[in-house]
Amino acid sequence: MEHIENNKEFEGLTVNKGIDQPPTVNPYLNKVRTARRRTYTASEFVEAIVKGDITMLSQAVTLIESNRYEHQTLAQEVIEKCLPFSGNSVRVGITGVPGAGKSTSIDAFGLHVLERGGKLAVLAIDPSSERSKGSILGDKTRMERLAVHKRAFVRPSPSAGSLGGVARKTRETIVLCEAAGFDTIFVETVGVGQSETAVHSMVDFFLLIQLAGTGDELQGIKRGIMEMADGIVINKADGNNIEKAKLAAAQFRNALHLFPPTLSGWTPQVLTYSGYYEIGIPEVWKMVDDYVAFTRKNGFFEHKRHEQSKYWMFETINEQLKEHFYRNPEIEAMLAEKVSRVLNSDQTSFTAAKEVLDYYFNSLK
Ligand code: GDP
Repeated sequence: MEHIENNKEFEGLTVNKGIDQPPTVNPYLNKVRTARRRTYTASEFVEAIVKGDITMLSQAVTLIESNRYEHQTLAQEVIEKCLPFSGNSVRVGITGVPGAGKSTSIDAFGLHVLERGGKLAVLAIDPSSERSKGSILGDKTRMERLAVHKRAFVRPSPSAGSLGGVARKTRETIVLCEAAGFDTIFVETVGVGQSETAVHSMVDFFLLIQLAGTGDELQGIKRGIMEMADGIVINKADGNNIEKAKLAAAQFRNALHLFPPTLSGWTPQVLTYSGYYEIGIPEVWKMVDDYVAFTRKNGFFEHKRHEQSKYWMFETINEQLKEHFYRNPEIEAMLAEKVSRVLNSDQTSFTAAKEVLDYYFNSLK
């Protein structure tokens, strides 16, 4: 008897025999899955990307962002094949603290650029990383008009890994976007730390968005960031904020005078504008155009790109060496043991480090 309830003693109670479960809830699901899982070869990707196929571009960027070995291998092949088609864009880095008006401004700058024709890609490097933990630059809807523009491609920051890793992925994405015909690339980052340096190392022009505030605007901005800027723009110069913005601009100009001349020979400019009310946008963009013309003429544009290529080669080597070391399970175990020995004062930091490194180098032989 299958169901005890059907025994004589439970008279008046019957339990029906259940039916067999179907082999799968949705017999078509597997079909759909296989269809979706159709993988493309590197050449298929490149062929589509060069034709400007946005879906394939997005999928290739997803490969770049993936940490799976086979995705990375394929991604590298796609990037390599796209390289000959890349380089024909103006790359602009845009930074500013949260609330400075980056997304509002990028929407306005972007539309201005697109009015002249061409295609615009907006990428981001967000050090707050993992999307699930609330990335600052991850939300596509922040740039409302660009997000729906036919000639714009807006991609949130890659999320996984170290800042170096995230930045490398963005740089690789630039190559694919250029191959797809995007002739202006914005790379946005939050002006709060190391990420500006990463962005600076992949763009032609570095734009720093600032706000007029309490009169001590120069405080709290790291000197290094100001030194990187090719242009400083004071946002929200509208309504009764115009005078304050002008004052802040004057202070920035004074501060910039104290800096040594730039390598490019270009004198960084300071302008005021309003991203929200779209005041002064063409002027800001004229500054970018002037810079590009100026540095193309004196050779700095090419020089900087060469330097950046070298930088990324060494960055990638550094990153992969570290990863190879720290991902080794034996090293991981050894490190855990060494940490406790060092903390127990059984061993000095230096001998512990030396032993781990010696072990690693020997294992390579
Ligand atoms: P982000 O965090 O740097 O991306 O800054 P948002 O673009 O999100 O802007 C932060 C806030 O400042 C929002 O409430 C915007 O509406 C406002 N804002 C941005 N640009 C301007 C501007 O030019 N003028 C004024 N008055 N407000 C602005």
